[in-house]
Amino acid sequence: MNNSSSLHDLTVAQLAAQLRTRKVSAVETAQHFLARLRQHATLGAFLDVNDEVTLAQARAADAALAAGAADAALLGVPMAHKDIFVTRDFVTTAGSRMLAGYRSPFDATVVARLAQQGVVTLGKLNCDEFAMGSANENSAFGNVKNPWDSSRTPGGSSGGSAAAVAARLVPAASGTDTGGSIRQPASFCGVTGIKPTYGRASRYGMVAFASSLDQAGPLARSAEDCALLLSAMCGPDPDRDSTSLDVAAEDFTRSLNNSLEGLRIGIPKEFFSEGLAPDVRAAVTAALQEFEKLGAKLVEITLPRTELSIPVYYVIAPAEASSNLSRFDGVKFGHRAEKYADLTDMYKKTRAEGFGDEVKRRIMIGTYVLSHGYYDAYYLQAQKIRRMIADDFQQAFQLCDVIAGPVAPTVAWKLGGHGNDPLADYLADIYTLPASLAGLPGMSIPVGFGEGHLPVGLQLICNYLQEGKLLNVAHRFQQATDWHVAKPEGF
Ligand code: GLN
Repeated sequence: MNNSSSLHDLTVAQLAAQLRTRKVSAVETAQHFLARLRQHATLGAFLDVNDEVTLAQARAADAALAAGAADAALLGVPMAHKDIFVTRDFVTTAGSRMLAGYRSPFDATVVARLAQQGVVTLGKLNCDEFAMGSANENSAFGNVKNPWDSSRTPGGSSGGSAAAVAARLVPAASGTDTGGSIRQPASFCGVTGIKPTYGRASRYGMVAFASSLDQAGPLARSAEDCALLLSAMCGPDPDRDSTSLDVAAEDFTRSLNNSLEGLRIGIPKEFFSEGLAPDVRAAVTAALQEFEKLGAKLVEITLPRTELSIPVYYVIAPAEASSNLSRFDGVKFGHRAEKYADLTDMYKKTRAEGFGDEVKRRIMIGTYVLSHGYYDAYYLQAQKIRRMIADDFQQAFQLCDVIAGPVAPTVAWKLGGHGNDPLADYLADIYTLPASLAGLPGMSIPVGFGEGHLPVGLQLICNYLQEGKLLNVAHRFQQATDWHVAKPEGF
């Protein structure tokens, strides 16, 4: 290919086609992106790169392509991983000082599955510490900037993933979503992202935050690309993740191109209450009108416990985190304090030095709500409401096929804009938490721009295991519109 400067403008599907027809080699492609991610290093998206490893993978992909592996949908396509997936060939930090310089002896299942498909890894992407956050400001390694406006947050916790895709430093990236961390940064950066049904993707090798909520998924520029990647990421992993569903891997691209005629889109009235900023409301409403033009019908529904999802999530997620993070004790992994008097002192100093403020806050909250005397009042109560939230969705899905609404109440806020107020971050998760608590698949697609020409995302939620339907709804919208093609200036 002569015009290699535009390689980064190709979608995953286009790039894979160019690689298959040998118009461009995997090595050329990898080199192009390695140069490009360095050129835009000030975005702060990457935490680790390793040219030698990347180019070796690219050479292997070229050899496979030369041998005629013509049907490989992702062979030679480069992508990068959120630094929450452990990788043998790259450092894994989970955005924490606790794991600075840590090298895993194995690859996460999601990483290994993509590698088996011939995906070339470009490196590791910045994220909030242990995936706790909504603005990427909790990373121990500096904030990622939003490519649409460098004074704004890219969202979180998969902020590096979303920013890298938006800035075309990578054709696609992996992310994880516990309470919105794929959907919200995708929305803030104007890219497409999907979180599958809980259990679809293996959690093996994902540094654990809240195990009953954590799910992996792709961020890319289109629903079609997400379909390609998600197909490779999902599938049972019974020996390594006991919560992985016994549902065979699916080719989600086969679900694309179904008409939306007669599709019932449920609009939860609670997602359009007073907290929703007018610019976001306007873009979301316009997108819903576009869906009507495509033959869909809008139906009002109710998710009456939407507001409760915030306290419920911020009890359950910290509870699980406090347990998961007990493994970081200075003995088994990562950081260990240099000077200490005895074992207890070593634990204390190691954890005091290794964890950032938000992680400590959650460990304390989690320990508190699980403690004797408070367990019934907080944790058990939250679990009960969690079940009700899941039941509310089942009621709603009697009336509609897919649910649509905003991803977040506002566009990306200014870095530091929430000051030292963690509650401001928590409240902004209101629209993503319900689907997370219910374990439902959800996605975000770009549907326009709001204040300051910042992207607005539309959230789409389907019932369990209906990722194919979800991706099709998004794909049909993207065929009729071009919001997903818009690109930030200077990239
Ligand atoms: N913002 C939410 C939190 O801070 C969600 C994070 C996530 O999905 N990983 O917990």
